[in-house]
Amino acid sequence: MSNPLADALTARRFCYVVELVATGLRREAQLLEAASRLASLPDVVAGSITSYAGGALGHDPLRVGTAARARGLTPNIHLTCVNGDRQALRKTLEDLHALGIQNVFALTGDFPKAQAGAGPAEAVFDLDSVQLVRLIAEMRRAGMPFSVAVAVSPFKYVEADCMYQYVKLEKKIAAGADLAITQVGWDAEKFAELRRYLAERRIDTPVLGNVYVLGPRAAERMATGQPPGCWVSPALLETVRREATAKDGGLRARLERAARTVAVLRGLGYAGAYIGGTHDAGHVAWIIRRSEELAPRWEALAEELHFGDPTGFYLDDRRHTPSPAHAPSARARLVPRLLDLTGRLLPVTHDTWLRRLLKQLSAWADKRPAVAAAVERFELAVKKPMFGCQACGNCVLGDMEYVCPQTCPKQMRNGPCGGTLFGRCEVVDQPCIWVSVWDRAKAADRVDALKVYVPPPNRSLSGTSSWINYFLDRDTRPLER
Ligand code: SF4
Repeated sequence: MSNPLADALTARRFCYVVELVATGLRREAQLLEAASRLASLPDVVAGSITSYAGGALGHDPLRVGTAARARGLTPNIHLTCVNGDRQALRKTLEDLHALGIQNVFALTGDFPKAQAGAGPAEAVFDLDSVQLVRLIAEMRRAGMPFSVAVAVSPFKYVEADCMYQYVKLEKKIAAGADLAITQVGWDAEKFAELRRYLAERRIDTPVLGNVYVLGPRAAERMATGQPPGCWVSPALLETVRREATAKDGGLRARLERAARTVAVLRGLGYAGAYIGGTHDAGHVAWIIRRSEELAPRWEALAEELHFGDPTGFYLDDRRHTPSPAHAPSARARLVPRLLDLTGRLLPVTHDTWLRRLLKQLSAWADKRPAVAAAVERFELAVKKPMFGCQACGNCVLGDMEYVCPQTCPKQMRNGPCGGTLFGRCEVVDQPCIWVSVWDRAKAADRVDALKVYVPPPNRSLSGTSSWINYFLDRDTRPLER
């Protein structure tokens, strides 16, 4: 079956993917009408159908994607880890395969919004996006020819936040991703930074740059960091407000900015543009045509596309020094070092007399439920005050600089989601736990160790002792440990 998106990427032909936001606020018929019109544009190789955009359920992306394809537009279906465990995700992938849909955009997903009058939202995040990519790659090996896109945001202005985005992208690519798509952003230096990061590591995975047609309503929202991961700087907000006073409400100005961004992306060697903020085929055609006119001037246009945080982190900015606010405290550095030292002094990670003894003791305790429960209670009493342990039964503290993954509201094990705002969590009012992981790893010169793949926990072990599980080899943890 032909796949115009994969074909364009293979042929290294600059291409366009247009995001179709399938929220419940829009009638499905309107979306499909838009899909039909977009299908008539030869440079548009796919329509990217959202699921759970902004943390709310929309139309079924499989149904919308199938209907869009019937109208000639190849779908790229967003598959998030929100509220679907690994079995449910596997089933969705089998359904996609049965429908002949190949392009999947594997995402962590926004935390679900609370429903009015229903109390705080609850969510299941059984897998994270890296684990989801591994699952898809496994199904691909079983004969389902999926093409996997993943997200990355260079538009992070706190060092730990930004660098972990890049490290996590490397993990996603190692897990089997075929394509990366950036988050929204209006900062050419950051677009260039991502390209440079990949080139320096000889990673040639194609990347689509996000080109969002930014109107005043979206700009006002994004200026507050909503939807999670989208940020509009005060300077850009001011510009958009000014543009909105024009007779056309700023339409021409925002299409022009989108076209300029596309020209910059082409110049920087991006594989294509991921257009959001409009479903209008007329707008998209205008952006494509205008970007071609502007292409020779891309370097000058890049100089003007500077809506970042002037005091924020840029990877190759020699003037930058990490903010003291994000430097790990002496205590934060000491705890991992002490635990590491203890781990080294206790030879239990390979076949030694001590490991054999602890294995025998664990097996003995495991056969006596009262003893196993007492060990679990003791472990929790030690680890809860120190790490916020929640007795998941599959301890990976040693792979996360002694920060417990269960303290992340999305319980991720391979790095932060894209929802942070200046290093703060999208869900709860606290610093993102991954900032601590990064800062501690950097202080100990162990950043490369963060690239290890951490598998999803065996959830049937929840509430049991991870020590016993470890010595009985029934927990899940990185193989390389
Ligand atoms: S990873 Fe699991 S066992 Fe380890 S501290 Fe966190 S909740 Fe406890």
